[in-house]
Amino acid sequence: MEVAVVEGLMQDYELSLQHVLWRIERLHQKKEVVTKRDEGIHRTTYGEMVPRINRLAGALKRLGVKPGDRVATLAWNTSRHLELYYAVPCMGAVLHTLNLRLFPQHLEFIVNDAEDKVLFVDQSLLPLLKPLAGKIPSIKTMVLIGDGAPAAMAGKDNGIADMLDYETLLAAESENYPWPKLSERMAAAMCYTSGTTGNPKGVVYSHRSQFIHTMGVLQGDSLGLTEKDALLPVVPMFHANSWGLPYAAGMAGTKVVFAGRFSADAKSIVEMAEQEEVTFLAGVPTVWIGLAAYLKESGKRLPKVRTVVCGGSAIPRSLMETMDGLGLRMLHAWGMTETSPLGSVARVPAGSDPDEELRLRLTQGRVGAGVEIRITDPVSGEELPWDGTAFGEIQVRGPWIARGYHNGYDPGKLTEDGWFRTGDVAKIDADGYIQIVDRTKDVIKSGGEWISSVELENAVMAHPKIVEAAVIGLPHPKWDERPVVYAVAKPEFKGQVTQEEVIEFLKDKVAKWWLPDEVRFIDEVPKTSVGKFDKKVLRASAVPISEGATQAVLATSSTSSGTTRSSPRSRSTLVTWCTSTPRR
Ligand code: ADP
Repeated sequence: MEVAVVEGLMQDYELSLQHVLWRIERLHQKKEVVTKRDEGIHRTTYGEMVPRINRLAGALKRLGVKPGDRVATLAWNTSRHLELYYAVPCMGAVLHTLNLRLFPQHLEFIVNDAEDKVLFVDQSLLPLLKPLAGKIPSIKTMVLIGDGAPAAMAGKDNGIADMLDYETLLAAESENYPWPKLSERMAAAMCYTSGTTGNPKGVVYSHRSQFIHTMGVLQGDSLGLTEKDALLPVVPMFHANSWGLPYAAGMAGTKVVFAGRFSADAKSIVEMAEQEEVTFLAGVPTVWIGLAAYLKESGKRLPKVRTVVCGGSAIPRSLMETMDGLGLRMLHAWGMTETSPLGSVARVPAGSDPDEELRLRLTQGRVGAGVEIRITDPVSGEELPWDGTAFGEIQVRGPWIARGYHNGYDPGKLTEDGWFRTGDVAKIDADGYIQIVDRTKDVIKSGGEWISSVELENAVMAHPKIVEAAVIGLPHPKWDERPVVYAVAKPEFKGQVTQEEVIEFLKDKVAKWWLPDEVRFIDEVPKTSVGKFDKKVLRASAVPISEGATQAVLATSSTSSGTTRSSPRSRSTLVTWCTSTPRR
């Protein structure tokens, strides 16, 4: 007998970013958007921005931008960039934020892959495009965003396209743009993976995914941004849509503070946070290492800040403790460009004691409401138990998780049953707390055992004289690979910390075979375009391990300590799997 499907009687309301635009226009007009510019602080409000967003949409239309066309931005975190965040998707086009720290050949690849039609660029970033002259033919128009006055270069041709001035364009348009009816499945924005582990790949967000992700970000047990907050996203607007925070701020009515091109400068961040009474910060760990050092040195504090969202790579315990000591509470989040990016957040359950609390805050937390997670055996593909011991690849599914890449790259990222393979290796405990062990490409394979580069880095960074450390596996004739640490001493201990001292320090913290063969001191760990440790660069320039180093380490280590040792089964499967994962 056929069962009749009884449909609900709710409206088919399309989930689109036009709703966020509606909210900033109707509910949050008075809320400020503040930007640090060269000439000083620029203040505006959502109320003043909305007519400009309408004008911008009119200008895009006049430039021939049609639904689905990609409109690129090469810009700092500013109010004008935020105007583009609204105008481009809400008029039906696709906002493509370009990473301004990429090498020219990566930028060229990305613009061509996305076939961007119009490029909005901060005038100060124009020199970055010089090597691309004649190489990005899809760009028909460039729009220059000046700092205040009209862009001086407007009207000239730089070998890419005619350059127009942003403000002049807006001035010619109407304040009332007839926003089209959008379907929630339409593409709204695209971001390329930052290329930490290979060529960038285009991730295309839909209006629906952005809308639901925004709601996800706003939940109290997620990032929990509210109308009462003042947000300063140190994370760039080109890094996975600034982690979805600009739209979350628009939805909630949060004041937004942008540091413009001063985002990498701890002093500017602290000044802006003080002046604008910022309560909510977000950025990668290396940003907070710099900020903590500046706060200590200057004696300044930020008592108004209630949350420092930190993601992009694991938070070292030493950093979280330092920040706690400075009164800055970090909120650990995990995700990736392909997960919009919010995957999980480390909120601590009620009733945890302080030790338990710190331990849980250092995990990658629990998966956000709306997303499902599993870990799977790399060889059999079977789901592994959540027992805090078994580890395998994280796979996720949900309404804001990618199902493919632009132009069909890397089709194998989706399992047959529709889960996205993240390439991150983790264990999950019975309460759902995720502990990332490593990326498959960074796990060190040593004599049939595995070593977590992340855990080893964290152990080294706990050394009181060390500020940053990255660990890579280098080829070894007998053991396949052995770990080598690249460490940066704190300025006051430069030249005063030795390899022996670091290895001695690690002895009761990691298993014997995890002890690094060498500790190499450098001035700074190279960073990726989004501020993560760049192990590709370290690997490419690494000199081989010196002969005899391994024996020296193993001979000097008398203790085999109690760090997690993997079960024989998971050990061998992980090694097989990681060996078959190419490092680029
Ligand atoms: P890319 O893959 O090019 O680095 P993303 O910024 O999308 O670009 O990086 C996503 C990756 O960053 C994740 O797959 C994971 O390996 C790492 N990552 C993100 N957040 C965390 C975290 N909290 N702890 C550990 N690793 C993290």
